[in-house]
Amino acid sequence: MNDCVFCKIIKGEMPADKIYEDENYLAFLDITPINPGHTLLMPKKHYKNLYSLPNDVLNDMALLIKKIAVAVKQAVSADGINIGMNNEQAAGQIVPHVHFHVIPRFLNDGHRHWHGKQYPPNKSKEIAEQIKKFL
Ligand code: 5GP
Ligand code: ZN
Repeated sequence: MNDCVFCKIIKGEMPADKIYEDENYLAFLDITPINPGHTLLMPKKHYKNLYSLPNDVLNDMALLIKKIAVAVKQAVSADGINIGMNNEQAAGQIVPHVHFHVIPRFLNDGHRHWHGKQYPPNKSKEIAEQIKKFL
């Protein structure tokens, strides 16, 4: 995609601090990290988000996520790692080129997890049944 910032990085038209590259995948440091070492992993081919990502690409990426997570954890002596993926605007996706976030975390780094809310009575059963219809 011509106007995709990640495609530009992949093509070498924009700089990035690359940490992993092979024929089909690239990982580089996020320019505004949650913590130092925050890495973005993506396929070189442009897919918008998870929904259109072929299963074989997702399989490859799962293995790379693990490889990168272990490396990032060691490199910055992280206490933990979050893996994240934002799909569509409502979920906070800013760059519409599918990518995973590998985020090193530190005890007391000040970042909070999302606040969960309670289901009203019987609502969880209804939602579970609804989801199962689409699987
Ligand atoms: P998302 O689309 O999942 O919300 O996140 C996109 C991420 O890409 C953001 O965390 C943002 O900081 C990062 N990002 C956006 N533009 C650039 C860029 O030009 N270079 C790098 N290295 N990261 C970027
Ligand atoms: Zn792209």
